[in-house]
Amino acid sequence: MKHSGILYDSHQRFHNYLRISLIEKCNLRCTYCMPSAGIQLSPKESLMTSEEVYEIAKVFVHHGVNKIRLTGGEPLLRKDFGEILERLSTLKVSLALTTNGILLDRYLDDLKRAGLRKLNFSLDTLNPESFNTITLRDQFERVHTNLQIVLNEGFDVKINAVLLKGQNEEEIIDFIALTEREPLSIRFIEFMPFQGNAWDQSKTVSLASILERIEGHYGRDRVERLQDAPNDTAKNFKISGFKGSFAVISTVTNPFCDSCNRIRLTANGRLRNCLFSDKEQDLLGALRSGEPIEPVIQKVLQLKKAVRAGLDSPETFEDYHNHQSNRSMIKIGG
Ligand code: SAM
Ligand code: SF4
Repeated sequence: MKHSGILYDSHQRFHNYLRISLIEKCNLRCTYCMPSAGIQLSPKESLMTSEEVYEIAKVFVHHGVNKIRLTGGEPLLRKDFGEILERLSTLKVSLALTTNGILLDRYLDDLKRAGLRKLNFSLDTLNPESFNTITLRDQFERVHTNLQIVLNEGFDVKINAVLLKGQNEEEIIDFIALTEREPLSIRFIEFMPFQGNAWDQSKTVSLASILERIEGHYGRDRVERLQDAPNDTAKNFKISGFKGSFAVISTVTNPFCDSCNRIRLTANGRLRNCLFSDKEQDLLGALRSGEPIEPVIQKVLQLKKAVRAGLDSPETFEDYHNHQSNRSMIKIGG
């Protein structure tokens, strides 16, 4: 497809993947995401309406975005989620959703109608008690039932599991066992630092230690490295003979910024060029005052640093002070 040049950054990376956070609220309280002190919610009138989400998305698609992921907070808590989906489905773009799964059963028909088949389903544990400890909510049964439903319905499911030292790392093999019969992908995510999540490098389970554990269990010969898709943030593997696969998202120990094609829009309409950048621009403000939004997009991309918002060395990235002026993950949208 022919596209204009505004989605290139100064490192010649083309940004064809827009992630839109629809809401700051959530029905879970995952300790690695939601600050224990809670968050200051933006006033309702400063959040994008469904019409504004559509208008902004349309401009991005016009300039070359071909994939949009809806996220949050918990995107399915938006009362007008069905309407947003319906509008976006009229654009020439592939749609995907990241969700904790609690409300998925209510939206199956909307998802099907919109042609949305790609689901990232966040589930950090297969144990109900650990689920309560990690998410601070007693919702395991619902989430588990909904996971089964979407698998039975043939959605393309990736499970996102954030690994936390001493909490769920012992479940790595249990997760991989799911891929023996189910054609799903389990993505182990290294715990990342954001404001208010008490991050510490020692709580992160690294790519190297994840692989060591898996190879120790299955034997090195059975762990196949798969070809990663272009711009994939995950390193993909499978156990030979298993239907599904697994992957590791190693933002902390092995960043993958060279091929980054992502740009993020927060629920209150701020455009961000990186998860770790505290610099954001008011795209919604421009739209509401009737100005063109292209200059804002261009500015954000021109400011994009080569690696992790300039926190390129392990020393700068691992200094938690350097993450205090950033938003918490729940207000960015993962
Ligand atoms: N509520 C939805 C969900 O949980 O899927 C969407 C929003 S959530 C912020 C998006 C993703 O970010 C989830 O898969 C979550 O596990 C991940 N995430 C949140 N905080 C994180 C952290 N500190 N490190 C790594 N991943 C994190
Ligand atoms: Fe909510 Fe998702 Fe954050 Fe958990 S990871 S608190 S489900 S937004």
